[in-house]
Amino acid sequence: MTIITKFEKKCSVCGRTSLQPILSSTNSWGYPDIDLRPPEMRRSTMNTWLVECPHCGYVASNIENKLEVPKDLLKTGAYLTCEGKNFKSPLSERFYKHYLISKAEKYHGSEFFSLLHCAWTCDDNDDELAVEIRKLALKSLYKIDPQEEDEKNALKLIEADLLRRSLQFDEVIRKFKDVILEDKTQNDIITFQIELSMNKDSACHTVEEVVEK
Ligand SMILES: [Zn+2]
Repeated sequence: MTIITKFEKKCSVCGRTSLQPILSSTNSWGYPDIDLRPPEMRRSTMNTWLVECPHCGYVASNIENKLEVPKDLLKTGAYLTCEGKNFKSPLSERFYKHYLISKAEKYHGSEFFSLLHCAWTCDDNDDELAVEIRKLALKSLYKIDPQEEDEKNALKLIEADLLRRSLQFDEVIRKFKDVILEDKTQNDIITFQIELSMNKDSACHTVEEVVEK
């Protein structure tokens, strides 16, 4: 089960304290989506992955961690308005703000995952922005230089899904038709992505559909 506890945290930017949720435990039941979005109950813990200081608007996985760029960033119009993107959920805004901070800090991995997670929150209520955020996430993904084989393969799977779900079906087919991964499930996911792209299917699908084929 999911246990979320609140702790008082002191913001490293403004020095003020606030109560912030900390995830003590959770579990997953079932299969992830084919872009690796976890199933419930972990899926419902996204509001604890990043926290926001209610006083100065700093967003971080832990607001006690130092901000690596000048704090004026948090007062810019781009940060305050999420670059003019009209997100329907405060959670989407939080992931987007973390993307802006990570981009300024030049942490490409964090920049990319903030956008991927932002896209997941958009999937729940914001279809049009979900496509736009996925296109942006692809740009961040291409900045990452993965060293480990596992990481490389995970990013390939996510890339295929980002392309398909941002309606770039021909790109999925072109880039992945000759890709062969060692892991059978991962390979089946790529084949599935190509089939879906041939059918111009941009919907969300789960790994369960691949393993039960
Ligand atoms: Zn603060």
